[in-house]
Amino acid sequence: MSDTTRIAEHLAALVLWPGGRPVGSPANLAAEEYIANALRAAGYEVEQQGFDCVDWRLDGVDLWVGDGPLPVMANPYSPSCDVTAPLAAVADLAELEAADLTGRIALLHGALAAEPLFPRNYPFFTYEEHQRIADLLEQKGARAVIAVSPMHASPAPLIEDGDFRLPSVTVGADVGAVLLMAGRAAITLRLRSVARPGRAANVIGRRAHPSRDKLVLSAHFDTKPGTPGALDNAAGVATLLALAERLATTEPPTNLEFVFFNGEDHYAAPGEVAYVAGCGGEFGRIALVVNVDGVGLPDAPTTVAFFNCPDSWAEATRTAIRHRPGIAETEPWPQGDHSIFAMQGIACIALTSGGIHSLIDSLIHTPHDTLDRLDPARLAATVDFLGELLARPLPARG
Ligand SMILES: [Zn+2]
Repeated sequence: MSDTTRIAEHLAALVLWPGGRPVGSPANLAAEEYIANALRAAGYEVEQQGFDCVDWRLDGVDLWVGDGPLPVMANPYSPSCDVTAPLAAVADLAELEAADLTGRIALLHGALAAEPLFPRNYPFFTYEEHQRIADLLEQKGARAVIAVSPMHASPAPLIEDGDFRLPSVTVGADVGAVLLMAGRAAITLRLRSVARPGRAANVIGRRAHPSRDKLVLSAHFDTKPGTPGALDNAAGVATLLALAERLATTEPPTNLEFVFFNGEDHYAAPGEVAYVAGCGGEFGRIALVVNVDGVGLPDAPTTVAFFNCPDSWAEATRTAIRHRPGIAETEPWPQGDHSIFAMQGIACIALTSGGIHSLIDSLIHTPHDTLDRLDPARLAATVDFLGELLARPLPARG
């Protein structure tokens, strides 16, 4: 069966849920089983590396000023609330430091809501100014938080943090303008959600080889809540499953480890933490990491970024790239599962689509990330490119 057919089958099996595959959800578990079964069927030894998580579900949200309801979006992982209170608007850190929020609903706008608040307990990176904002909101006794997005239509949630204790929602810029005009009039916010302890897992497929070196190929299969996650990242998963099937028909060139991470789009990256805890002692064996996230955008090349690669290996790879019209080199980019390896000095390449970073929150992480936005031929070309790359010697470990 051709790579294109297999890729289409994998994509169809993974992009089944309009609400996506967020960590801990039933869809996430179904995707985990699908990937594990596909690897087993191809002859890989499979580990489902489990970890604790929260399964969060929204049952409803509404916002009222006087007797008029306003469009509102619950922030993922928000606790429930039923609050009627006056607003206190704050636009920057100085205003927040000075504000009295006791018994009020904080309305974050301007600089405070210009970008999503970075999750406070993210394990690999901290953003102190954002931690300060979250701490102040909690310490000052706000009863809930409304964040005003700079976007008008379908704004992305500005807070997505299971470790933030206040109920919170996001509204578009036009709703924000109505709320700012309402001044200190009492408004009502009702949010009903359920959070239960759950389990989820990374899926790891291995083929052993007598050598000491290990080749890691990774793609995350979780999504943000509320996005079907075709480009981000059923595409990467389907690409690597097709590659795993192709490599299963020949002797492996070294120890092969396909890692399907579960948590790249989660506020606390629990899958990455579980992987580091489980395999951390073996990081020194990894000769190369290939991470695939967001490939397959039509009318854009598949891009390759290099991290810590020895010059001679990188040069040979650049030569291979120049022979393939749909593939191009790009600057190293920090987000994504390759980061946990790149930070340790391990040689990595990260594959994505050219121009993809400008689509975050307009296509990626939204309900619009659907299968029809993908070009499956680009995924097949990516499998081909990686197959050729991995037939060559791996970088020598430094
Ligand atoms: Zn992604």
